[in-house]
Amino acid sequence: MFAPIERNNSILSTPIEYLKGVGPLRADMLKKELQLFTFKDLLEFFPYRHVDKTQVRKIAEITPNTDYIQVAGVLYDMQIQGEKKGKRLTAFLKDGTGILELTWFQGISWVQKTIVPGQQYLVFGKTGFFMGKPQMVHPELEVFSPAAKEGKSFLEPVYPSTEKLKARGLSGRAISKLSFELLNKVPATELKENLPESLLKEHQLMPRYLAYRNAHFPVDTAHFDAAIRRLKFEEFFYAQLRLNLVKSQRHRFSRGVVFDKVGALFNTFYHEHLPFDLTGAQKRVLKEIRQDTAQGKQMNRLLQGDVGSGKTIVALLSMLLAADNGFQACLMAPTEILSRQHYEGISALLSQMPVKVALLTGSLKAAQKKKILASVLSGETNFLIGTHALIEDKVQFSNLGLVVVDEQHRFGVEQRAKLWKKAAIPPHVLVMTATPIPRTLAMTAYGDLDYSVMDELPPGRQPVHTVHRYEDARPRVMQFIRAEIDKGRQAYIIFPLIEESDKLDYENLMKGYENVKAWFPEPKYWISMVHGRQPAEQKETNMQRFVRNDTQIMVSTTVIEVGVNVPNASVMVIENAEKFGLSQLHQLRGRVGRGAEKSFCILLTGLKITNDARERLTTMCKTNNGFEIAEKDLELRGPGDIEGTRQSGALNFKLSDIVQDKPILEIAKTAAEKIVAADPELNSAENLLVKDHLRSLKGKTEWSKIS
Ligand code: ADP
Ligand code: MG
Repeated sequence: MFAPIERNNSILSTPIEYLKGVGPLRADMLKKELQLFTFKDLLEFFPYRHVDKTQVRKIAEITPNTDYIQVAGVLYDMQIQGEKKGKRLTAFLKDGTGILELTWFQGISWVQKTIVPGQQYLVFGKTGFFMGKPQMVHPELEVFSPAAKEGKSFLEPVYPSTEKLKARGLSGRAISKLSFELLNKVPATELKENLPESLLKEHQLMPRYLAYRNAHFPVDTAHFDAAIRRLKFEEFFYAQLRLNLVKSQRHRFSRGVVFDKVGALFNTFYHEHLPFDLTGAQKRVLKEIRQDTAQGKQMNRLLQGDVGSGKTIVALLSMLLAADNGFQACLMAPTEILSRQHYEGISALLSQMPVKVALLTGSLKAAQKKKILASVLSGETNFLIGTHALIEDKVQFSNLGLVVVDEQHRFGVEQRAKLWKKAAIPPHVLVMTATPIPRTLAMTAYGDLDYSVMDELPPGRQPVHTVHRYEDARPRVMQFIRAEIDKGRQAYIIFPLIEESDKLDYENLMKGYENVKAWFPEPKYWISMVHGRQPAEQKETNMQRFVRNDTQIMVSTTVIEVGVNVPNASVMVIENAEKFGLSQLHQLRGRVGRGAEKSFCILLTGLKITNDARERLTTMCKTNNGFEIAEKDLELRGPGDIEGTRQSGALNFKLSDIVQDKPILEIAKTAAEKIVAADPELNSAENLLVKDHLRSLKGKTEWSKIS
């Protein structure tokens, strides 16, 4: 008898060389050039366009405006012309309405061997005109058989190929033959439906098997569109399903410390020391955090807020909530400067309160460090503030209940895991972003986290007036800064970041510094300079002088970028602004407009800038809204490049694009959420096929914990 067929014996995992027409040599090339290893890889290697065989046009129809066209006729008069570099092969095609000249500059001997003058050919390519006559260079062509003319009407797929593959006879057309062979070999049972019937119905999705067939060899354009839509839906749906399952698993199973009281610390601070009323958004987010942390399940929340929306106070109130429930809290910032600022700000706000706050940074003396570590371990210190040094193993808490990560998009799984080990029950985690990221991106890259948005700025904020100026306007810009400083304000002048090795940027900064000094001579004016090559202490001193208004100008690289708060600063000049990304520009601009004064951002560039750079600058001048800017950033750069998501595997889609396919993503997300909410174990009869398919997807382990 036959043994039952196992999953991994699926025909789809067959090595590509066993497909008819491939063999070991071509298989090697397909692996190297296109990363096609198995039948499945080829199945998921989709054509980039289709040629409509039914659209055979007449040569007489070709005009100088014609782009691509398909014609059929008899090929004749093939000959070699020219010599050496000018050598080419020409032939003519006639169809009774006109004559088309065909030319080849490459692969001449191959064409000579395979093309037979006197035959009828179907010819496809881009047309051009030479001396008033139509011609086509490097046409795709194949024998035009009457069967093809009268036969089934279908769109023929064209696959991407490479020069090396073409040299081996594996042109896009040849790959199409392989695909055809493959699809005829793969039975419907191998491409079993993996979406529940109800979803197919509700969203009018094409069955899976048909979708694969029609994505490659569609019956017509409508079928092709439906096929692609279904496959994209499937791709998004499973990505969203996974994220939602991880989230649901955490909500249901991971133990968390319980913050169920709002006690004296929170209340006293809220009623007596909070220097302003909270915005609606701040209140809403705090409520979300309170609800999360009272459940006995671990919170893992991403807080998205625009620059200046007041995330720090939300963090502080959450930390007080932890303290009220007998737990320690820590706040992690990306740089020493920022940690110190948080430490000073929070210490000042809590000066009347019985809460002990400590700062742990790399520049501490060993003895001081030891003292702090001991007080953290004993539980005497309530709040520990610092850089990533906080997650080092030697930092041990007595009872850590909450970790706030400020100004960081990326906080890896490993880092989270490290934090979890710092207490018997994992502490709650609140990650606050530096600048907003687009919703679609957050949804795909961070969909396993709980998610809060603060889309409201504290009252009275004026938008920062932003302008773009060319290099030659520098004198006027400097005069403007002087006028502001003479009114008592301060200014930032930012240069591109100095990488360790980047001598050019360093020289650029030094030149810039000398230039600024010439405009603002001592002792009337004082300048601070901060850059990445300085020792931490020097950076710190220079920064502090600016914070205290001992210096009026801060010349700096982007080390200043995140978080720094000097409300008296009202001018931000960004040199070489064309070199900066949108989210960076927005983040830098967020350093001004923090006080009551009207603030300005001046984007200085050279005379020549690229279109993309121009669009970035225009966007900056047009809006102060970080969420809008994030969307534009995604549109300009594509998802792969957005800060903090580069490493996210969650964005590796084969077919889909989170920008262009946003509507499908939204539908798939809602569908996945509904399913997980109603049936988190995927045990219902209808969802079994979903569970089954999830198991067959490799590479993720979270699932094993659930089932
Ligand atoms: P970010 O979200 O960029 O971290 P911060 O927390 O640094 O913003 O807040 C920016 C400024 O706004 C700070 O000076 C802070 O004191 C102030 N702020 C925060 N919340 C409010 C509020 N509700 N009303 C008025 N000012 C506020
Ligand atoms: Mg902040």
